[in-house]
Amino acid sequence: MNLAEKVRTISDFPKEGVQFKDITTLLKDADAYQEAIDRIADRYQEEDIDLIIGVEARGFLIGAPLALKMNKGFVPVRKPGKLPGDIATKEYDLEYGSDTLEVHRDSIEEGQNVLIVDDLLATGGTVAATIDLIEEIGGNIIEIAFLMELEALNGREKMKGYDVFSLIKE
Ligand code: IMP
Repeated sequence: MNLAEKVRTISDFPKEGVQFKDITTLLKDADAYQEAIDRIADRYQEEDIDLIIGVEARGFLIGAPLALKMNKGFVPVRKPGKLPGDIATKEYDLEYGSDTLEVHRDSIEEGQNVLIVDDLLATGGTVAATIDLIEEIGGNIIEIAFLMELEALNGREKMKGYDVFSLIKE
């Protein structure tokens, strides 16, 4: 199946000039959603992975079904103020302003092998911050997987030295 065709582009969202990739059209297609998760899971069948890390919010839509399919635990990286336990925090720059991500410090044991998952790689800022957080709490990053990558934005540049995989490239 051509999964790229299942993602629609919406112009001028969230602001003028942006060509927003909307994955909700892929998610509502049962066969497309299933195939996307199956194909990402297949890639890691032989890998020694302990945990799947998903980034709020759309990273949960890929990471949680992937974790169930692979029979691994799932760890959420969340926006500020959502996690009740002891947290590690990382602030990162956006085009305008900044944002923060948090993770429970005890969610990963020192040296556990993790796969980081998000829906889409754009400039790479979100996942670069996630990498810092996960390493701060002791995770060993095996790879970073995306449903989709916007290659023109060169997000991979922010992940030099890490293995990066994307199912759909545009
Ligand atoms: P980055 O930090 O610039 O790589 O942006 C990635 C984050 O913003 C991801 O968590 C995406 O969910 C979201 N994002 C950025 N651009 C798009 C888009 O065109 N479609 C869907 N999500 C996007």
